[in-house]
Amino acid sequence: MSKAPGMSCPHCKSAARARTSTALSPLFREVTYQCLNDHCGHVFVCGLEAIRTLSPSAIPDPEIRLPFSQHVKKREIAQQLVLGLGAEPA
Ligand SMILES: [Zn+2]
Repeated sequence: MSKAPGMSCPHCKSAARARTSTALSPLFREVTYQCLNDHCGHVFVCGLEAIRTLSPSAIPDPEIRLPFSQHVKKREIAQQLVLGLGAEPA
């Protein structure tokens, strides 16, 4: 579970280690964390969700609906404007 993101214990703010991880869908995963503070011992579950696309996949799965980031939309609109201006007759 070393690939899971770092997480702090919500109670004592100490580092917590991911113990198990379960994929509930291609976009959502539950990760069980254990607080590393022996005096606390809190075990808790976090949700890890894919929420937006920054750069589109070259091999997209049609089943996956992941919205584009606002930044991507602005960049694409800007590129379209530049292309549109370039295509105008002189
Ligand atoms: Zn703790």
